[in-house]
Amino acid sequence: MLGKYDSFRDSALHFLCTSDWNNGEFGDVQDYGVYIWRISNTPEEVQVINTEITSVLEDWESYEEANGASQEFRDQLVGHFIVSENSQGFVNVREFDTKEALDARYNAFLEHYIEWSGMCPRHGGPWGEDETCELCTDEDGNPRPRS
Ligand SMILES: [Zn+2]
Repeated sequence: MLGKYDSFRDSALHFLCTSDWNNGEFGDVQDYGVYIWRISNTPEEVQVINTEITSVLEDWESYEEANGASQEFRDQLVGHFIVSENSQGFVNVREFDTKEALDARYNAFLEHYIEWSGMCPRHGGPWGEDETCELCTDEDGNPRPRS
């Protein structure tokens, strides 16, 4: 059952992201119109013998259908991706050649979101409000400029 995904790979990546297997997330499908996750997987991380990712993936609804236990399928999850979901629930996956390229795109999206919302996605409150938050304050606890 693919529905809102282009492929089983995209569905699996989205499932991983929503299962806390991601490298950052922010957004608001309702008002902002999109939710974004960043996810990078190494070949070692996605291996069938890696019980950590396997125990997560086994709860994915398409696990059997997509042959999720095969190494061939797992290899499709290797790489650097931005996964996004829109207000209709449709999921889009963009792959990047390097982690640097992924981070650059992710940070550009993030900056836009912060500009729009005035909120910090890390601690969940107004930008610069939480002096212990590493994203919106500096080492001394002062609010970072919003770019
Ligand atoms: Zn913060």
